[in-house]
Amino acid sequence: MALDLETREQLIDTVRRFVTERLRPLEAKVSEDDAIPNEVIEEMKALGLFGLSIPEEYGGLDLSMEDECLVGVELGRTSPAFRSAFGTNVGIGSQGLVMFGTPAQKAKYLPGIASGEIITSFALTEPEAGSDSANVQTTAIRDGDVYVLNGTKRFITNANKADLFTVMARSDPGKPGGGGVSAFLVERNLPGLSVGKPEKKMGQQGAHICDVIFDNVRVPVENRLGAEGEGFKVAMQVLDRGRLHISAVCIGVAERLLADCVAYASERKQFGQAISGFQLIQGMIA
Ligand SMILES: Cc1cc2nc3c(=O)[nH]c(=O)nc-3n(C[C@H](O)[C@H](O)[C@H](O)COP(=O)(O)OP(=O)(O)OC[C@H]3O[C@@H](n4cnc5c(N)ncnc54)[C@H](O)[C@@H]3O)c2cc1C
Repeated sequence: MALDLETREQLIDTVRRFVTERLRPLEAKVSEDDAIPNEVIEEMKALGLFGLSIPEEYGGLDLSMEDECLVGVELGRTSPAFRSAFGTNVGIGSQGLVMFGTPAQKAKYLPGIASGEIITSFALTEPEAGSDSANVQTTAIRDGDVYVLNGTKRFITNANKADLFTVMARSDPGKPGGGGVSAFLVERNLPGLSVGKPEKKMGQQGAHICDVIFDNVRVPVENRLGAEGEGFKVAMQVLDRGRLHISAVCIGVAERLLADCVAYASERKQFGQAISGFQLIQGMIA
């Protein structure tokens, strides 16, 4: 739902102040500790950040895509690891449920996702299915009133904290490509589900990605998201929406980088003058 202009301004102003006054001073600590302090997570919950995109009836703010993007620009002005803490709940971890969930699935999970009590992950990528994401090898074989999942997912954001995974798995092994894939809501505590150690990354310390391993994980049929064979469509629609959000965050990141570069080049002096006076520095910033 689109906010009226005054409410939108208030929300953006609140997020901007949270980013400037609360998050930016913590950037070095988060990078060093590779963790976001728990009290900051609690403040994010209180601000409603986990539920930006969740319908109001389930406790979220139900922002329109445009409003969510404007908030995303503000969130980009600090380390992206902060946004990642709640980003999966806002985007890839919740939107399959919002778009394709049954009323019972929504009622069961969305209020906890909106409040931040339930952390979500989205598990599509595999060792052999990256850019070629329709090449999912994880299987989901129907056995009465459950699907039995086997396989490994890779680079799954927030997997080490997640309570609920949206998992794309091949329910029809005889059908190659996206058509044989279904989506499932998989709870963390199911027997046979394990999570690997966080990968070492080049950046975004404080945000984590891990393998998720399924060893005969029995997922109830009522936890299938959408129709059988519709899972790749679920994944693509969720990712399409996520791309808009991430693009907005990238605008904030780019503006912050420019501002930091300009400030540093103006302050740093070499050869008796600010380095911003050198044409090559100006060229790089431009
Ligand atoms: C920080 C991070 C968080 C992530 N979070 C998640 C998550 O939460 N859930 C999830 O499911 N996945 C997640 N991923 C995985 C991400 O979606 C994949 O990394 C991505 O799909 C690319 O796959 P790949 O890494 O296997 O690269 P590859 O597919 O192996 O690509 C390697 C290179 O080859 C290029 N390439 C591939 N195919 C072609 C082609 N046809 N033509 C030309 N060039 C090509 C690519 O552009 C790339 O430069 C995450 C990844 C990272 C790094």
